[in-house]
Amino acid sequence: MREVVDGVIEIPIGYVNAYAVVVDDGVVLVDTGIPGRAEKVARAVEAARRSIGEVHTILLTHWHPDHIGGVAELRRRSGARVVAHAMDAPLITGVVKARPATGFMRVVAAIMPPPEHVPVDEALTADGPISVSGFTAIHTPGHTRGHMSFLLDRDGGVLFAGDAAGGRRSGRIRRSPRMVTEDRAAELASIARLGDLSFESAVFGHGRAISREAAQRFREFAALG
Ligand SMILES: [Zn+2]
Ligand SMILES: [Zn+2]
Repeated sequence: MREVVDGVIEIPIGYVNAYAVVVDDGVVLVDTGIPGRAEKVARAVEAARRSIGEVHTILLTHWHPDHIGGVAELRRRSGARVVAHAMDAPLITGVVKARPATGFMRVVAAIMPPPEHVPVDEALTADGPISVSGFTAIHTPGHTRGHMSFLLDRDGGVLFAGDAAGGRRSGRIRRSPRMVTEDRAAELASIARLGDLSFESAVFGHGRAISREAAQRFREFAALG
């Protein structure tokens, strides 16, 4: 685990990253890792000298099990509000069952215990500032229909891209694998939209964070198509 930007802590959980963000009035989590590993998130919060009870909001980028795996337990332990896009909410609450559409997703479903379902306390339907001060939500459909990215107003802007894109070791971005993405054209359009925003750093569900001129990397990727 490491501090990517002041107060933004990256928590690697297997092959996926969750994030803890220290804010004025507590802690915000962005995604929660794979099922069964909530304790690692809780320990990261404590390492930042905060208690789990100070987590007041959990932002979910999308419904995939590697991002919502710890949400039910962390919500129970903290009393935090869970925020996600309305289009992905039924898959998070369990109202709609996820169908592993591709062979790869069937493999994932077979090796990973299913995430516990959880209520969504705030279902987002529009872009803009959310109830947590400093954060703006941006609907970035493609990887999933209700995929959300979150922009934090800190140190020139920090984008929480979820799986809207991934970070390469070279410092460039990449797309998520085709087999786990619902709509490739929409995904590319979302990357272009993110490139129109202003942010200095970007963190991802998978791959290496970018700490400088991150929006430029999104613009370059979109320009290449
Ligand atoms: Zn995903
Ligand atoms: Zn993922």
